[in-house]
Amino acid sequence: MNTTVKQLSKITLADLAIQPFLEVNSAADSFYNTSGKIKTGFAVAINAEKLVTCYQDPAYKQLISTSTVAFADGIPVVWLMSRKGKAGKRIPGCELWESLMQKAGVHQSFVYLLGASERVNALTQIKLQQQYHVNIVGAHSGYFDDNGLIIEQITKSRAQIVCVAMGSPKQEKFIAECREKYPNTLYIGVGGSYDVFVDEVKRAPRWMQRIHLEWLFRLVVQPTRISRQLRLLQFIGLFIRGKF
Ligand code: UDP
Repeated sequence: MNTTVKQLSKITLADLAIQPFLEVNSAADSFYNTSGKIKTGFAVAINAEKLVTCYQDPAYKQLISTSTVAFADGIPVVWLMSRKGKAGKRIPGCELWESLMQKAGVHQSFVYLLGASERVNALTQIKLQQQYHVNIVGAHSGYFDDNGLIIEQITKSRAQIVCVAMGSPKQEKFIAECREKYPNTLYIGVGGSYDVFVDEVKRAPRWMQRIHLEWLFRLVVQPTRISRQLRLLQFIGLFIRGKF
């Protein structure tokens, strides 16, 4: 497998350094160095909602700016990059995570799976082991009271990739805390990716993804997300005011 990935240069959007990628597979490859070792750090998906939250909440922006790889998981972000003359495609977080898991299976990297319901977490473990032979060294659902206990488990597991599927901003806050105590690993915030992977939540049909209407599909399937989706309107408002 070719693990040498020529990186495009980063671009600054709303004071955040975004790493453009041209496709999911090479984005996933970029987490490994040429000798097949995982690069430690913190990967975060950036969409319009996160840009708005960063604008409104400096503490959240501070968390996001500690990431080592911020990738464009949203057409508005891709569009902002292209306005600045940068190539780059949308890298859906759930696809990047699955591609990374496939590579983790090949390299036998130690993976810790945190997040989602107990059932979805368990189904995700089984499917990852069956499909990609992923070496899962620990797992826990995303519902717990004692962060310290989970951080201890992660540390003991000696995980090289820690996947955190707890939604934003919870997952970024957890990653920041865990990273302080256990820094030498790759953290990736993956939101609802496990739910999609085990078919608990359906993704929009391909034709809707192609015309960039995945957000509309999600809204119809999960109407409770309306307040989050309204951030798209705020994004447009902020853009018109020249904030991005
Ligand atoms: N979740 C969790 N712990 C929590 C809240 C949510 O593990 O305290 C999980 C939830 O079960 C789901 C995921 O986080 O699997 C939420 O995904 P969402 O679609 O909201 O994430 P997004 O990608 O939109 O940030």
